[in-house]
Amino acid sequence: MSNYAILLDLERCLGCSACVVSCQAGNELDAEQHYISIREEIRGEGMALEGTFLHERCYHCADAACVAVCPTGALYKQDGLTALNVDACSGCGYCVEACPYNIPKLVNGRAAKCTGCTDLIAAGEEPYCVQTCPSQALMIGERDEMLARANCLIACDDSASRVSHVYGTDQYGGLGLLTVMRYPPESVGLPQNPAPIAQPIKLWQNVVQPASAGLSGLALAATAGAFIIARRNHRRELEEITQAPQNPETQPEAQVDPS
Ligand code: SF4
Ligand code: SF4
Ligand code: SF4
Repeated sequence: MSNYAILLDLERCLGCSACVVSCQAGNELDAEQHYISIREEIRGEGMALEGTFLHERCYHCADAACVAVCPTGALYKQDGLTALNVDACSGCGYCVEACPYNIPKLVNGRAAKCTGCTDLIAAGEEPYCVQTCPSQALMIGERDEMLARANCLIACDDSASRVSHVYGTDQYGGLGLLTVMRYPPESVGLPQNPAPIAQPIKLWQNVVQPASAGLSGLALAATAGAFIIARRNHRRELEEITQAPQNPETQPEAQVDPS
């Protein structure tokens, strides 16, 4: 089995949104629905003004909380990416609550997020977004190769202040979306040391789901109720963490060792 990752080099991104549009068209999404959001980050002033484009999309966590909580198997790991079978989604919204990056949404009562285009990959093709990008800001390949390429992009850059971070090397078991960026990930809202997956979610994945076939309806409902309360508490904790002011002295940067 392959272990793919998508490499997003924000230094090459033009902000053209071709990836957003091709993803919409290829996945037959409604015009107002999209799996990628792009925003501009502008810093400095006057002649020192500079900026970059930032993408919000599924990070394809190896240790994926959304997969752990999905009771129907609609979310699952395939070849390193987090796939979604919308037809199997019950619309419970557990994944929406569990994702540490706030990625899945409920659209028309079903989960919606980047599927990794796993069907295209299985057919030997690249995801729509990768196919369409005019500047090769997006690539897909074996994760080891993508990580090596990301590190090389940094090592080969001689403009010291640029392209100095890779996000996704270790978070949640290693992300299937590796992002190369000039700014420290923490400074654009990407935690270097994100909160671990809550114990109730782990319990749900490792104990409750396998045992659920043997539980009575009442016992299962009680366990599910406890889980929902626990995940809401976890969510509140996460919000408090992300809203707390960042102290650069206590928050290590995602500096990558190019060696
Ligand atoms: S970013 Fe969220 S939706 Fe994507 S794999 Fe991770 S937990 Fe799941
Ligand atoms: S991998 Fe596929 S589903 Fe995900 S953003 Fe790219 S085109 Fe859209
Ligand atoms: S298609 Fe490529 S260049 Fe255009 S916004 Fe997407 S990643 Fe950036």
